[in-house]
Amino acid sequence: MTTSNEAEVKSSEVEVKSLSEPGAKAVSKGPKVPDILVNPESQAYITASINEAVKSVFASLAPVLKETMEATALTPQKMLEMENLRRAPDPDKLKRELRERALLYEDEKERLATIARSQAACRHKYPTGTYSTSTISNYPDRQMRILCHLCLKVYHPAQWVIGAPDQENPRGRAYIEPETPGYRELLADTVMQRGSGGTV
Ligand SMILES: [Zn+2]
Repeated sequence: MTTSNEAEVKSSEVEVKSLSEPGAKAVSKGPKVPDILVNPESQAYITASINEAVKSVFASLAPVLKETMEATALTPQKMLEMENLRRAPDPDKLKRELRERALLYEDEKERLATIARSQAACRHKYPTGTYSTSTISNYPDRQMRILCHLCLKVYHPAQWVIGAPDQENPRGRAYIEPETPGYRELLADTVMQRGSGGTV
């Protein structure tokens, strides 16, 4: 027991000694360093050459490292580009939307044209010959409108209209719409037949 303990203590002492003194003889594995190399000049030379080699390696890596860091850095400009890319509309989706909108516009135009044609062709009279019109008298301007119950056309006098808003008129542009052609004649005929304010 005692002898083995002493041996352990001795070996640890040797190791500590070899670590603390670079010039000490190595007791562990590895090839034995030639004595001629173990002197301050050669040590200094080796250290200097290793330093030089490491420096040159990092010097040659520096541009690559810089480039990599610049490429991966999240700069405000890059974030803006990413955001723009994210917000950029899908071209296929945009095309489809424009196509559908154009179709809707065409359909609406056709619908309005059909209504205008049927109203233009309407005589505003029933087959019996009596007028299919009546007056509407509860407008704020106290002037009567005439409604045809067959084609649903409304004849109106000159009236104020608040149109779509524009730059100068954020609440809508007000303008006077001229009276519907034939309004006065139809009003006279309707009133004569039914009396003013008449309903169906
Ligand atoms: Zn009509």
